Amino acid sequence: MEDREIINLSEKLFIPTYSRYPIVLRKGRGVRVWDVNGKEYLDFLGGIAVNVLGHCPRKVVIAIQKQVQRLIHVSNLYYTEPQLNLAKILIKNSFADRVFFCNSGTEANEGALKLARIYMKSKYGKERYEFISTYNSFHGRTFGSLSVTGQEKYHHGFEPLLDGVRFVPFNDADAIAKAITDKTCAVILEPIQAEGGVNVADKNYLRKVREICDKEGILLIFDEVQTGIGRTGKLFAYEHFGVEPDIMTLAKGLGSGIPIGAILTKDEIANAFGPKTHASTFGGNPVACASAVATLETILEDGYLLDYCQRISKYFMKKLNSIKERYPEKIKEIRGMGLLIGVELSFDATEIVKGCIERGLLIGTAGDGTVLRFTPPLIIEKEDIDEAISILDEVFKEANA
Ligand SMILES: *Cc1c(COP(=O)(O)O)cnc(C)c1O
Repeated sequence: MEDREIINLSEKLFIPTYSRYPIVLRKGRGVRVWDVNGKEYLDFLGGIAVNVLGHCPRKVVIAIQKQVQRLIHVSNLYYTEPQLNLAKILIKNSFADRVFFCNSGTEANEGALKLARIYMKSKYGKERYEFISTYNSFHGRTFGSLSVTGQEKYHHGFEPLLDGVRFVPFNDADAIAKAITDKTCAVILEPIQAEGGVNVADKNYLRKVREICDKEGILLIFDEVQTGIGRTGKLFAYEHFGVEPDIMTLAKGLGSGIPIGAILTKDEIANAFGPKTHASTFGGNPVACASAVATLETILEDGYLLDYCQRISKYFMKKLNSIKERYPEKIKEIRGMGLLIGVELSFDATEIVKGCIERGLLIGTAGDGTVLRFTPPLIIEKEDIDEAISILDEVFKEANA
């Protein structure tokens, strides 16, 4: 089928939730993907922060192939080796004592909210159900996660949402202190608001929030669905801030594209989820776990890739700043950490994204639509960045903002 036919038929057959760019992708290797016509693209969005090791990384492909031949699914009524192997790696390399596996970011956050509520109820013996979240946050599309997502555009038409969610400005610890009541259960935060515009937490912010939560006896949940798995140059973003959460959620990069999410927490909190309180049919599926094990082993191998991410980030930032100097009226700010980078424009970013795609560079947007989002694989090289920068330069030159 021609790409036009595929696009037109897809537009007829799918429930129209997405507005897609008109390309049909068929193949990927490393930092590059190819469409059905053989046109090559440099992928600086990486499946929205999912393909941390690039497309079809060898070690992950082999791990998946082996597991698919051995066992695809058995449910959580039984134990499997890949699940345990993954749990061991996550626990060894994080603050957590225990883990629960699910299938996506929103499902991880749903579970985290449920866990926080049942733990607080078991601890205090009364209703402590309120959540404090931040404006411009993004936690997912199902009702619980959506209810703590601080962007009205995603709520619209779906009300009523969960009761008892209070929103406060990001990077304002005093606002959290003021929002606490005798019913507060937990604070939920992304260390870097990714979808909401790549807004990085101030160093002292997370520390202050941790202090407030400890003082008030409420839980702190970090949503590291996008910032986790090496994205920021540490395995988890919280490591940059020297602040540990009580509960952390993961998904995007964890399985290199095979769907998997996780909730990580401490023993005491985990124990509030007794048998039959929470479950997921596909959660911790052996194929997804095998993929995640191979992904994490590759990232953690002598720590090279995490250091590399920080180094290549500096190079990318420097190059982006040179573009900013050339187009000071078009580019307002460059921000981010590791390979989660936002470039705020003085106008809507759609035209820039489309111009890049035409020239063979895939990037995304964030926030109110004026922020370009870059979440490339951690394996990008200087030459890839130079190529992306020269495309961006051309596109900015032509853009009449
Ligand atoms: C993408 C994202 C989610 C939602 O993940 P899904 O897998 O799409 O449900 C939640 N939180 C953050 C921070 C995200 O970036």
